[in-house]
Amino acid sequence: MEDLRSVLLKHGFSFKKQFGQNFLTDTNLLHAIVSDAGVDENTTVLEIGTGAGALTRALSEKAKRVISFEIDRTLRPVLSETLSGCENTEVRFMDFAKCDLKALEEELGDYVVAANLPYYVTTPIIMRFVEEGKRCRALTVMVQEEVARRFCAKEGTEDYGAVTAAIARRGSCRITRTVPRTLFTPRPNVDSAVVRIDFTEGGFPVKSEKAFRETVRAAFLSRRKTLENNLISVFRLSREDAKAILAEAAVPDAARGETLSPKHLGALSDLLFERGYIKE
Ligand code: SAM
Repeated sequence: MEDLRSVLLKHGFSFKKQFGQNFLTDTNLLHAIVSDAGVDENTTVLEIGTGAGALTRALSEKAKRVISFEIDRTLRPVLSETLSGCENTEVRFMDFAKCDLKALEEELGDYVVAANLPYYVTTPIIMRFVEEGKRCRALTVMVQEEVARRFCAKEGTEDYGAVTAAIARRGSCRITRTVPRTLFTPRPNVDSAVVRIDFTEGGFPVKSEKAFRETVRAAFLSRRKTLENNLISVFRLSREDAKAILAEAAVPDAARGETLSPKHLGALSDLLFERGYIKE
């Protein structure tokens, strides 16, 4: 295939910063992402952000089927050329945020997500699969390196936060590789990493998803405050009740939310739910 840059040039394509357009061209890296995602001939892949189709084509060579969403319609002529012959691949020109995930999942069945995500919407996209995804088995996504560290952080570290706990509730998370900024066109200001979130391993049940979300939000509401004080202000508990619940959940006195593991936050949310402090 013609060099990707020449194809873009030929079609008069101009990069749009507002869509987070930083394209990949390194063939080894593209194949490495496909391999990290564990794609084989039985896999249906959902990609968000087709770009010029470099990753899409690499996915298409290994997968059963690829559905790829792209917001920028000006890429249509580029993609007709770069994805020619990819019979198992379909590009949908629309904002992924506007797609009905439930209907899409009914259409796809079990699937994995593989994508070099637009950085301005990384977390909302990931959280959508974490909170609403029913048939998604795993996400293997390129994100900014600092965001990747946040996703996979351990409790008690600076990177640990509400997003980490939400992801850990659903599955396991690891960085599969770091990627220098020099491998993107145009070059972004930060380095990146590929992160794999697996919904088929790790994770843990909670009595109420809503209670878990609210407990996590409260735990990280004010990092300078103790968990006890955050619970009091969010759930309007008396100090006595807050102390009793925390003792029952084996949370040490004066602990801060960020020191509790995701599972520990899950146990605390179960208690708050059972005692009626959080309602469904
Ligand atoms: N997959 C390509 C690659 O690896 O070279 C492109 C990746 S680029 C980081 C992100 C792509 O997502 C851009 O092509 C951008 O136009 C597209 N995009 C941005 N926001 C989007 C959205 N809300 N829905 C669908 N695509 C979007």
